[in-house]
Amino acid sequence: MEKHILSKSTFLRGLQCAKSLYLYKNFIQLRDKQSAETTAIFNRGNNVGILAQKLFPGGIDATPAKRSDNIGAVKRTKELIESGAEVIYEAAFQHNQVLAILDILVKKDNCWYAYEVKSSTKISHTYLLDASLQYWVITNSGLQLEDISLIIINNQYVRNGNVELDKLFSTKSVKEAVIKQQEMVEEKIDVSKSVVANPQLPVVAIGEHCFSPYHCDFMGNCWKNVPKKNSVFEITGIPKAEQFALYYAGYETIEQIPASNNLDAGANAHIYAVKNDEEKIEKVAINKFLGKIYYPLFFMDFESFMPAVPIYNKTKPYQHIPFQYSLHYKKEENAELEHFYFLAEQGFDPRKSFLESLLKHTETEGSILVYDALMEKNILNGLKNDFPEYASAIDLRLKRIIDLMVPFQEKSYYHPAMKNSFSIKNLLHALVPDLSYTNLTISSGSIAMTAYESLQTETDMFKILEVRDQLLEYCKLDTLSMVKIFEKLEEVVKE
Ligand code: SF4
Repeated sequence: MEKHILSKSTFLRGLQCAKSLYLYKNFIQLRDKQSAETTAIFNRGNNVGILAQKLFPGGIDATPAKRSDNIGAVKRTKELIESGAEVIYEAAFQHNQVLAILDILVKKDNCWYAYEVKSSTKISHTYLLDASLQYWVITNSGLQLEDISLIIINNQYVRNGNVELDKLFSTKSVKEAVIKQQEMVEEKIDVSKSVVANPQLPVVAIGEHCFSPYHCDFMGNCWKNVPKKNSVFEITGIPKAEQFALYYAGYETIEQIPASNNLDAGANAHIYAVKNDEEKIEKVAINKFLGKIYYPLFFMDFESFMPAVPIYNKTKPYQHIPFQYSLHYKKEENAELEHFYFLAEQGFDPRKSFLESLLKHTETEGSILVYDALMEKNILNGLKNDFPEYASAIDLRLKRIIDLMVPFQEKSYYHPAMKNSFSIKNLLHALVPDLSYTNLTISSGSIAMTAYESLQTETDMFKILEVRDQLLEYCKLDTLSMVKIFEKLEEVVKE
């Protein structure tokens, strides 16, 4: 058997971009280093596949001793099928130098059923393409399938005691959709193989395909000629199509965009600020916003994690479970800044202790400032359902919340370095450049989420302490940033 040319992932890569496939096969060293953020996202829900295997217990794993031995895996799968195995995990097939590794293969009443597990709650177009390729390889390699299904997570499932796998997972046959795609799959396989075999690098301009369905990992190579500063791709808040329309029309930087254009007011505020290198400050609007805020001040930020498989009773898949908060507190205008925090012990349901601690620390009157309050409000509303005995106390906190993002979102304050984005990191970079997340190991909510989730199974005490310190440092910086941003608003209206 010859080594495979395409696998499921390279097939999907080729569908996204021929150049990406070519570079992956021939110049893998040009691939971008995976960011901590991306690694964190990929790591989420990794164990879902193992759990789903329990829907079909007693199976035999066809994974070879050496993971890269795909030919060995194909041979072993064949042997297992011939020897009468009825449930095979990681079943490997190859046809015409295309490799497919299926999560679960099951024999029932002398018919074979294929199952592919996804840690998502929805079936996407990419998942259908993925299943279509699996079906093409498996059936052409000689095994007829009675059905092929995707196993996804049922987001309505509420855990009550032990996880009920039949309720947590939802199995949907995709055979009909997959059969319709077989001709296209065969054509695309031929195209992709010719891309790989061709000695020439395919000519593909950068475009929206660089981001969809996945963020391409060769952008460092293909985007190297895009200006590093003030490129038209820095105008966030407008569709990618509009950014590319500008780029294809010959405008590479914001400074080159003509004053008369079809972009919206937000984008034009950004263009104006960059061209004139000036901030836009509407003191009346900022003053009005500040007028709603009263001491003592609480600067509040939550961190939560979202286990794909609910860990605690009365929680759903991917529910936000709060495990940490940071609170900077200022009693009055000239008072010292104080700091309070909570970080749950790993291994326990953190919700009640989180809530009780938060209520205690926010007992006194005063505005509770949050940056982009949606997540915090959703978590507090969720906690009202989980612990109705605290509902009225939570309502009192909800009423005191003021979103510090509002003056920026409404463009009462605009700085060119914000790049038309209201993320706290962009804001900090623009308004308080001395304060930065750059040197933190945990530097985003996604990384914090994965870090805390990893603590649930960590046994090395040093590692646990290290991660906990990193989490504390990160969340503290979030609320300190809010303090600095608030002070900046006060400063500009006084000037
Ligand atoms: S960055 Fe864009 S053009 Fe370059 S390989 Fe990736 S998808 Fe293709």
